[in-house]
Order: sequence, then C-alpha cells, then structure tokens
Amino acid sequence: MISGANYIGAELSKKGDKQFNTFNPKLNLPTNWTFHEANEEEINEAASLAKSAFVVYREFSGKRKAEFLRAIAEEIENLGDELIQVYTQESGLPEGRAMGERGRTMGQLNAFAILLEEGSWVEASIDPAQPNRQPMPKVDLRKMLCPVGPIVVFGSSNFPLAFSTAGGDTASALASGCPVIVKSHPMHAATGELVAAAIMKAAERTGMPNGVFSNLNSSGIEVGQQLVMHPAIKGVGFTGSIKGGTALYRLANERDEPIPVFAEMGSVNPIIVLPSALTEKGDDWAKKYAGSIMLGAGQFCTNPGLILGIKSTSLDAFIATLGAEIATLEPICMLHPNIHSNYEKGKQELTAQAAVDMVADYDTAVAPNVAQQRVLTVNGANFLKNTKLHQEVFGPFSVIVRCSDANEMEAVIAKLEGQLTGTILGNENEIKKYKTIVDTLQDKVGRIIFNGVPTGVEVCPSMQHGGPFPAATDSRFTSVGTGAIRRWVRPVSFQNWPNESLPEALQNENPLGIMRVIDGNHTNSKI
Ligand code: NAP
Repeated sequence: MISGANYIGAELSKKGDKQFNTFNPKLNLPTNWTFHEANEEEINEAASLAKSAFVVYREFSGKRKAEFLRAIAEEIENLGDELIQVYTQESGLPEGRAMGERGRTMGQLNAFAILLEEGSWVEASIDPAQPNRQPMPKVDLRKMLCPVGPIVVFGSSNFPLAFSTAGGDTASALASGCPVIVKSHPMHAATGELVAAAIMKAAERTGMPNGVFSNLNSSGIEVGQQLVMHPAIKGVGFTGSIKGGTALYRLANERDEPIPVFAEMGSVNPIIVLPSALTEKGDDWAKKYAGSIMLGAGQFCTNPGLILGIKSTSLDAFIATLGAEIATLEPICMLHPNIHSNYEKGKQELTAQAAVDMVADYDTAVAPNVAQQRVLTVNGANFLKNTKLHQEVFGPFSVIVRCSDANEMEAVIAKLEGQLTGTILGNENEIKKYKTIVDTLQDKVGRIIFNGVPTGVEVCPSMQHGGPFPAATDSRFTSVGTGAIRRWVRPVSFQNWPNESLPEALQNENPLGIMRVIDGNHTNSKI
C-alpha cells in the first residue's frame, strides 16, 4: 500500500481519516493503492516547513539547486519499470507514452539545471552611481529576479509525469528558489507517490532543507482550496479545466494578500485551412488531422477541436476524407471514468445543437472508458450565433466550420476566446493575402503554427505554452520551457547597497560570469 503525505525527514504520514483508491480505467476497476486524504494539520505542517525551507533554499547557489534538479531526474530514472507499470495502470495510457513522458520530465529537470548553471536567467541589471551628475547625483541601482516563496502545484490528470509531481511547474519553481507543495492528482496518486519519493531521495542526497518539497494527497477540492488560501503560499501552478482553474484564480484573489495563479486551462486550438492547403494537399492534411484529433484519445490541451475552411468542393472533399480516415482509427481508453463521462456529456451537448451535421461517428461498441471519436460540421453563420459550439470537448472530438468567405472566417476567429495555439495551413503567398485573418488569429493565441499540427509541445526556451484567457490566466507567461521560471520570481532593486553584501549576480566582480545589462549594455564583464 502506498499512502499518505510525505515530507523530507518526516515519516510517511497517515493523519487523514478519509481514504481513497486510484482507478484502472482499462480494467474498469479500482486499484489496490489506497491513500489518506491530507488533513488540516498536514496542510499546515507542509506550509510551515515550506516557509522555513524557503529562507535557506533561496540562498543556495544556482549550481547547488542544479545538483538537486539533476538528482531528481536520476532518481526518477532509478524508479525503473515500477514507475512505468504504475503509470500505465492508473492512466490507461500505453507504455510507450509513459516512457516518452518520463524522458520529457527528466529532460525538463535537466534543462532547468543547465539554465541555473549558466546563471544569466536572473536578468541582472546594473546602473552604477554617478555622484557627480548635475544637477542631481545618480544613486547606484542594481536589479535582479528573486524567488517569491512557497508554491502550490496542482498535478494534472492528462500528464501524470510531465505536468504533475516533478513536472514543469515543480521543476521551474524549484529552479527559481521556491519550495513546492504538490497537491497530487487523485487519478494517479500512486504514480505521484513514487515520483515524490524520488524527489525526497534527491533532496536528502543533495542536502536540501526539510520542507523544500511536500506531496499531499486528496480526492476532493478542499485540500487544494486550503493550500491556496494558506498565508505561507505565494503562488500557484495549475493545469486542468477552466472551471477548476478559474475557481482557484478567484479564491487566490479573495485572500487578504492576493497571490498569482498560473492556470493553463486548454482551448480548442483553431486550424485555419486556406484554399491552397485544400486544393494541393487536402487529402494529406485530412489524414494528418484525423490522427492528431485521435492522439492520446484527444486528451491534450493542444488537441485540434476546431477546423475552419471556406466553402468549396475541395473543403467538401477534405471533410469527407477526414471523416472516412478517423472512422478507421481504433478508439482509445481515456484516463478515468469521470473524464470519459465528461467527454460523453460534452459530445452529446454539442451534437444536439441546431444546424449541426455529423461528419464521423464511431458507433461500434467499445470497452468501458474508451472514447468513441466524433466530428461535426456547421456553417459559419450558425457557429457565430451559437457560442456553445466554441467550447472545448476534452477528447477525440472536433467541429469543422464551413465559412461562406474569408470575411466570415475572420469574423469567426474574432469571436473566439483566447487559445493556446492557432494553426494556418496554406502557402507563403496566402500569409500575405489573408494577413488580417493571420493577425486576428495571432491576437487570440500563444503559439501560431504554419503547416503543422498543434499536438506536440516542444520543451525549449522559445516555446510559448499559454495564451489569452481562458487558455491561461496570464498570457504573459508560459508553463512549458525554461521561460516558465519567470512565473515564480519578482524583480528586486538594490539601491546604494555595499558591494560585498549584494547577491553575487550583482557584485562588481561578476563572480558568476553571467551576462548582465550595465548602463544599458549587455556584457559579461566586471565593473
Ligand atoms: P480539474 O477538474 O480541473 O481538476 C484538476 C485539479 O484541480 C484536481 O486536483 C482537482 O482536485 C483540482 N480542482 C478542481 N476544481 C477545484 C476547485 N474548485 N477548487 C480546488 N481544487 C480544484 O481537471 P481534471 O480532474 O483533470 O479533469 C476534469 C476535466 O478537466 C476533463 O474532463 C477536461 O475537460 C478538463 N481538463 C482539461 C485539460 C486541458 O489541458 N485542457 C487538462 C486536464 C483536464 P480534485 O480532483 O481533488 O477534485
């Protein structure tokens, strides 16, 4: 049995009376892994440990924190096949996906380690004093990014590793110098416990302070709410539903001291199919998109849920091919019965809307929790009138909009809410010809893709994973890539501070050898 909440240096805790089990969606049965719901005492203990750990951890050098992150990656690898087996049982996802996600998780941790070792990410900026400036002397000002304090991370259901216990939110927060309390996702708490144990082993190995990381289990929303309201907590990372993300965002803003909630809540990721893509490569794109809609049972925040084209015989052919192709693909088991029933509910709700036609509907009987794919079509005027059709249905589902002309296509894009991604299929001339369509799309999204599929989110410094609300609560930040560290820091200016008492990043001698901005010029020289 795997149970309880864990703190570094403390025993496995079993304080909560309420218990729950995770679920194997493929077997359609609960697993044997039982967990204790964290109680108030544990929440307070984790928060207070995190608060005291912050005082120590924030002072550690980039190199020391990098050792910790690299050790976490190693300890995750050391979990070996057990992690893969537990992951696949709790998520219904295949082994290949589990291994890929483990690699991505370790890669993220190592990427942050490299960022810390290099060190320039703190954006050190120095404006030396000018005591003789007329008519007023200029003071010495030096600014850099500093960690905000303990962070709560909500594990996401659809990425049990890469967006959960040691996922991008945790890796970026630990890299910034902030302790982390994970509110484990109840659908894969055993996977979470294994990873939490790896993090704690790494923390002990590298001499991190007690409380730098805690993992709390719960199967209801109260534990998460209490954590967000706790005065020791200074920021929140979340990936999940719009309902959950906005509820936490509101809660955090109602605190005596409001704190930022960086919620990534998904979107329909519109695909704009311009005429040349239909006439020259219509069949290819239709087949690619059938695969992209089905990928991972559609359980990706970048799943293509909306496709827009201009009425023509080639759009009809594209729709026919996509429908025929997707009907041949094998339906896939979803993560959990709740996710499956949400999918069924959303699918039926959108199908029941007026003026909607079926393009493809997989109606052969399937095993429990397996998602039968569906694609609908509607014309532009009806789509514009009915915002229900703009909603995300989390699963292998998509709506194709037949726009009467380019103006209507632009009007449809303008009416959409904020999105994580938007995709243009076409040629380079069309980017110029349909510039207002491209510009309207760019205003709505965090990532704009040319001739590709939105599924597949590369982890690298230039990735933007986030977009205008409700794709995310703050479109200025990303939750994927090393830029994610910026969510957990704030700039601090040191005025007329003695050189030897400054953080090393701001000292005259530049002991870290980092790139800084001195008097407005980028340089890694000393002063
Ligand atoms: P969720 O309902 O948003 O829950 C995610 C996490 O947030 C869970 O740990 C949940 O706690 C917690 N939570 C939810 N509402 C809360 C509230 N009001 N106060 C405090 N905590 C709250 O997402 P999910 O359980 O993963 O899946 C449900 C649906 O979300 C899916 O069917 C799908 O539609 C959508 N979803 C979207 C994406 C995306 O990327 N677009 C990803 C995942 C899920 P408990 O579970 O303990 O209640």
